[in-house]
Amino acid sequence: MRLVLLGPPGAGKGTQASRVSARLGVPAISTGDIFRANVSQGTPLGQEAQRYMDAGEYVPDSVTNAMVRDRLAQPDCGPGFLLDGYPRTPAQVDELDGMLAERDEHLDAVVELVVDVESVISRLLGRAAQEGRADDTEGVIRRRMAVFAEHTAPLADLYDARGLLHRVDGLGGVDEVTDRIMAVLPVGEPSTEV
Ligand code: AMP
Repeated sequence: MRLVLLGPPGAGKGTQASRVSARLGVPAISTGDIFRANVSQGTPLGQEAQRYMDAGEYVPDSVTNAMVRDRLAQPDCGPGFLLDGYPRTPAQVDELDGMLAERDEHLDAVVELVVDVESVISRLLGRAAQEGRADDTEGVIRRRMAVFAEHTAPLADLYDARGLLHRVDGLGGVDEVTDRIMAVLPVGEPSTEV
């Protein structure tokens, strides 16, 4: 199962990605988490990414795409993966298509967590208070939402045109949302093949 999880910052993608990936038995790959790990370890990649992240801007595609390519080449991605936070631009969509085509693979589904922007902003402000993320100040949060609206929101229509998109209501209890996601995935269908 190869999945992409879409949705604005604060929609609960990270939480749902780990739950859904555990149920499916595939790794959840969060580009944001990989960047944050590199920042805290002070790697060259982290140093490059940090200034963009702190400003609420996207890390350049050249950096992000190379990082995802490396990650998807790891053996644990053989049976599949769940991407959280990638792709985020049409150019990243093309790049992911290329990576999968090279391996004769394709995406099985794209799930968009649909949430109300104002609830998302209050959720992010709550997370800022709890976790102290440098990119969770109100100004940066608003910038991240604007960058999302401009660059990433259009990806839903792009995947919809391919027949891959499932829109899921992201508001509600964590379990409830996980169940909604599982219900739209093309898994668990009785096989009609002999
Ligand atoms: P996230 O945890 O997914 O909200 O990501 C946090 C930050 O990491 C984003 O605001 C970006 O600066 C950077 N980032 C994560 N994924 C990507 C991506 N696919 N393309 C560019 N920047 C990214």
